Amino acid sequence: MRRRVLLATNNSAKVDEYRSLLQSLPLELVTLGDVGITTVVDEVGESLEENARLKATILAAEGRLVALADDSGLEVDALGGEPGRMSARYAGEGASDNDRVKYLLSRLEGVPWGGRSARFRCVIAVATPEGEVGFCSGECRGVITLAPKGEAGFGYDPIFYLPEWGKTMAELSPEVKNRVSHRGQAALKLPQVLMRLGL
Ligand code: IMP
Repeated sequence: MRRRVLLATNNSAKVDEYRSLLQSLPLELVTLGDVGITTVVDEVGESLEENARLKATILAAEGRLVALADDSGLEVDALGGEPGRMSARYAGEGASDNDRVKYLLSRLEGVPWGGRSARFRCVIAVATPEGEVGFCSGECRGVITLAPKGEAGFGYDPIFYLPEWGKTMAELSPEVKNRVSHRGQAALKLPQVLMRLGL
């Protein structure tokens, strides 16, 4: 039997990635739209873990379903780990992916290639409607480019360069991105989390 799991995100790009990442697991993935939930959880936590937990527990209780939420972000070494958990809001409310990319590049103006190292991090929280929670996480290291390149993916993908592929994340096919990305790495550990929760 396939267990119904609520994908607790309003980001349609993340929904697409999870549908592909979790296709081999015995899960029936439903979205917030599918179950008529319009709640937007305030990401007031101090860490990716706290925010993932908040989103998963609140939406699992509201949907009366096991819920999977992720909080993810880009950490740039030269900026002391910024934007981190502020990745989605880095250029202010209402800004677009393109605005955030431009803003980040402006913050790194004058920083040479050797100083532009960064990592994407993803924390997945799985919560039951009763409030039990399990976590797993993944990361992916790369370099922030001098200019955007590539059309695929979302967010900071066009400026996140993977030296081993010689491409930005936005130049990778969805299959390859899912194999190497922070979200892909975290998703590999999901079966153990589900098992620990008895799911
Ligand atoms: P969240 O919805 O609070 O987890 O926001 C994460 C933000 O981090 C997104 O809005 C993107 O700006 C960035 N981000 C997270 N994952 C990715 C990714 O796979 N590619 C590019 N940017 C990402």
